[in-house]
Amino acid sequence: MADYGDPLVLADLSWPEVDAIRDDVDMVLIPVGSNEQHGPNLSLRMDITGATEFCKRAAAMRNPKLMVAPSMPWGVSYHHMNFPGTISLSAETFGQILVEVVGSLMDHGFERFMIINGHGGNIAPLGNAIVRINEELGPTFVGSAAYFSFADKELGPKFFENEIVGHACQMETSVAMYLAPEIVKNDTLAAGEMTDLTYELRGALQQYGVNVPYRFDEYTRNGALGDARKSTYEIGEALMTSALDNFVAFADDIIDWSPIEEAGE
Ligand SMILES: [Zn+2]
Repeated sequence: MADYGDPLVLADLSWPEVDAIRDDVDMVLIPVGSNEQHGPNLSLRMDITGATEFCKRAAAMRNPKLMVAPSMPWGVSYHHMNFPGTISLSAETFGQILVEVVGSLMDHGFERFMIINGHGGNIAPLGNAIVRINEELGPTFVGSAAYFSFADKELGPKFFENEIVGHACQMETSVAMYLAPEIVKNDTLAAGEMTDLTYELRGALQQYGVNVPYRFDEYTRNGALGDARKSTYEIGEALMTSALDNFVAFADDIIDWSPIEEAGE
C-alpha cells in the first residue's frame, strides 16, 4: 500500500490540539456509510469503513488542510432490511444528525465541509441534508459525493464491461481488498444470486434514471450483485489511487473557489 503519512483525525485530538490546528484546517471531511448486508462477501461495515479509509488517505495527502470528522455509523438502508444485521435510520434522522454535526463544528470555527458517502441509499437524503445545512447554517462550503465517483471514468468500462456492479460486487469487493482487507470474507466470496428483475430490468432503470424503491432481495437472493470472486487488490488499487488523486486536487480547487470571509470586515 502506498505510504500516505498520517491523517489529521478530529476525534484523536485533545481540545487544546484542536484549538491549535483549527486555522490550518481548510475543509472537514465527514464520512457517511451504512451498517448493512453485503452478501457473503463483505462485513456489514463496508460502506462506513470504505468512506472512512478514503477520507483518512485523502487527509494524509493534505495534512493539515483536510481533517477527518468521526464517521457516521448508520445510513438509510430500508432496502436491505430483509437481510439480518442491517440497521437503518429514517432519512429525517440521518439528515438531522448531519445538520447538528456540521453546526457543532461550525461553532468551533470550521467553515468548509465535504460529506464523503459510501452508500447509495444515502444519496437522496444527503441531497436534502446539504440544502438544509446551506440554508440553516450557511457554511462557506458544503458538498457531498460518493468516494468512488472520483475515480477516472474510463476505469469502469476497463474493469467491469458486461459486469453487473453496484453492491457487494466485483468493484466494491476490489475496493475493500485495497482499503480494508480485514472486512473481506475471502473464504465465502460468491457471485450474486441475481433475480430476473436484475438481468432484465435493472439496466433499463439505470439507463433512464428511473428510481423505484425495490428492496434488495428483489434483485438478489444472497444480497450480492455481479461476481465478487473476480475481485482483485490491483483493481481496487487502480480505482482508489485514481479517486484519491482526483479528490485531493478537487478539494484544492473547492478551497480556492470558496474564500472565507473574515468576521468584521
Ligand atoms: Zn456497500
